Amino acid sequence: MPDKNKNNPMSNLNNLSAQTKLVHGGTERSKHGETSEAIYFNSGFSYDNSEAAEARFNGEEPGHIYSRFSNPSIEMFQNRMAIFEGAEAARATATGMAAVTYALLSQVKAGDHVVASRALFGSCRYVVEDFLPRFGVNSTLVDGRNSENFAKAMRPNTKAVFIETPTNPTLELVDIKAVADIAHAHDAKLIVDNVFATAVWQKPLKLGADLVIYSATKHIDGQGRALGGIILGSKELIEADVHTFIRQTGPSISPFNAWVMLKGLETLSLRVEKMSENAAKIADFLDGHKKINRLFYPFNKSHPQYELAKAQMSNGSTMVSFEVKGGQEEAFRLANGLSIILISNNLGDAKSIISHPSTTTHQRFSEEEREEQGIKRSLLRLSVGLEDVNDLIADLDYALSQV
Ligand SMILES: *Cc1c(COP(=O)(O)O)cnc(C)c1O
Repeated sequence: MPDKNKNNPMSNLNNLSAQTKLVHGGTERSKHGETSEAIYFNSGFSYDNSEAAEARFNGEEPGHIYSRFSNPSIEMFQNRMAIFEGAEAARATATGMAAVTYALLSQVKAGDHVVASRALFGSCRYVVEDFLPRFGVNSTLVDGRNSENFAKAMRPNTKAVFIETPTNPTLELVDIKAVADIAHAHDAKLIVDNVFATAVWQKPLKLGADLVIYSATKHIDGQGRALGGIILGSKELIEADVHTFIRQTGPSISPFNAWVMLKGLETLSLRVEKMSENAAKIADFLDGHKKINRLFYPFNKSHPQYELAKAQMSNGSTMVSFEVKGGQEEAFRLANGLSIILISNNLGDAKSIISHPSTTTHQRFSEEEREEQGIKRSLLRLSVGLEDVNDLIADLDYALSQV
């Protein structure tokens, strides 16, 4: 924290703007006064004597015990992210999927029920649809575009509602505020996977969500180096429910990866702003192109939920999806015709990435299930990176000419 001079009002976190929080928030300097945050690459911590160990374990004395529970580098990442998100507390995990799984597990027990939107990131749908029922937690998947569908699916034993908005890969939206109200009317918690919108453009906790999760692998690292995840929410939910689960079962992030994410946060806004600016320009380029059937971009007027996008997001973010005229053959020809834009399934990276969901991330679904989610064989998902946007448009322009 920037608190060199405590008389200066800028030593008060509440006076700092978002970008300053991303650079300085959560910093804990050691006695050496390092400028960049230290990597505490250690598993354990030692105590001055047995009495001190006892006090640390019974909570009478603050301090770290073991890096599965807590570690200074991990804590700096959690605190910086919580400060930026506007959350009371956060816990980091080894991957985004660990964050999703533990956010859900922390709220349910056998006999409970979960409602989720059916358009979910592939593994998230797996957790809700296949794993939770194996442990006695049934789930109902609904078309998330209409909030009424959540209300209809709620049961007396529904304890959690899980949504992603915009969704992968068709960038459909779910009305966070409306679904939060429905969940709370039934005493259930709303968990939002905010990866696609990013913490820069959408604040689910302010809209009523109880827990928000990120795959830090995506925009937070944003440079393809490390896996990570994070769960944010109230002190009550994080420090009791989520912390206990993580502490006792161990999906903890490595201190090194937490440090990579911590440094990623310093440039998160700058990268996401530039990537989103590029994405909007690419959406404009694709909009109405003679080789394109349909464009999906939340801040493009053609988006069926454009009004909702404007209401709950402050920008269209970094992802653009589109259907090429034709089918799989034309989609492959386009992707294969690109030079700069990589073919990969990752997203939120400095490098632009294109993927063909129906043969990769959504391959396991039947043709009907894909149809239900609007995933056609002609659909491509583009994660827009940090390259010069004119180069990206030229790359797409050539590839489109090959279709
Ligand atoms: C990538 C992703 C995840 C899973 O994150 P990992 O870090 O790969 O485990 C979950 N949800 C969404 C929306 C994602 O894009």
